[in-house]
Amino acid sequence: MRLGKKKIQQYWTFGELSALEKLERFLTHHLAGYKKGRDYPAENHTSRLSVNLHFGEISPHQVWQATQRCRLFGASEEDIDHFLNELIWREFSCYLMSHFNQLPVKNFQSKFDAFPWKKTENLIDAWKTGQTGYPLVDAGMRELWKTGYMHNRVRMVVASFLVKNLSIHWHVGRDWFWECLVDADLANNSASWQWVAGCGVDAAPYFRIFNPTTQGEKFDSQGTYTKKFLPELKRLPNKYLFQPWTAPTQILAASNIILGKTYPNPIVDLSISRKEALEAYQKL
Ligand SMILES: Cc1cc2nc3c(=O)[nH]c(=O)nc-3n(C[C@H](O)[C@H](O)[C@H](O)COP(=O)(O)OP(=O)(O)OC[C@H]3O[C@@H](n4cnc5c(N)ncnc54)[C@H](O)[C@@H]3O)c2cc1C
Repeated sequence: MRLGKKKIQQYWTFGELSALEKLERFLTHHLAGYKKGRDYPAENHTSRLSVNLHFGEISPHQVWQATQRCRLFGASEEDIDHFLNELIWREFSCYLMSHFNQLPVKNFQSKFDAFPWKKTENLIDAWKTGQTGYPLVDAGMRELWKTGYMHNRVRMVVASFLVKNLSIHWHVGRDWFWECLVDADLANNSASWQWVAGCGVDAAPYFRIFNPTTQGEKFDSQGTYTKKFLPELKRLPNKYLFQPWTAPTQILAASNIILGKTYPNPIVDLSISRKEALEAYQKL
């Protein structure tokens, strides 16, 4: 794991007691509204229990039972069910790996073995360091580097961007997440990367390509999350936040932004790369 001891202690607490307290806090304060709120990275609506589950500091059974008990106290059924569904995705990944032990390395759908991935090192570096010119992608990648965590919605966006817009093999993303995530988990990470890439079991269809601009506008409309991790865009009006290259010159100047210098120009054109990805997929 890349994060040093000091930084880990800054962002995370460990141990069984701490995991139980975290669960209790989540069920008391953040379960209400989970179904909707879990998609908004600036909101504190997810449990952050993935780390504790991974290290066995709490078991999925404990989480399951404690959540079920919330039904007795009038918690919303849809929030409870949705949270339990997410836990089931985790278990499904473990189940898959126990039956298909090549999950971390081999495409579950072998037709993807022939996919013409690219190996463009400078694009890979830009993705890893959060310098792609797409603010939601960059915020996510910098959150990962800084804290060892990334919100699930943003994980899907950065993964789709790497695999579909940059045409880079999901193994590259898998490895970088493996190095940086505090909750890095062989089954969950592998299944999730295969899901985004379209080659997994019950995967997102290949043609589902997340658009980082519209995802940002929809799920971080106030820019709270994005600006937290990209302070250089702090002064940019939200209207241009997810596509800074469309901002008029005077607005960029007033926001202290020089594109290509203080913040990168987009490293790839979204619509051209989307079209190329779909064409490559058609050939499989
Ligand atoms: C490309 C990619 C890579 C991922 N790599 C990992 C990984 O290495 N380790 C990991 O634990 N999760 C991984 N996930 C799944 C998910 O992003 C995290 O489990 C979740 O963000 C953890 O935050 P949380 O505990 O606040 O989740 P909550 O929303 O509070 O969910 C509760 C628990 O359910 C499980 N869960 C939630 N969402 C998912 C999901 N989409 N798939 C499977 N299980 C889920 C987790 O154990 C989580 O702790 C990955 C997702 C993607 C798209």
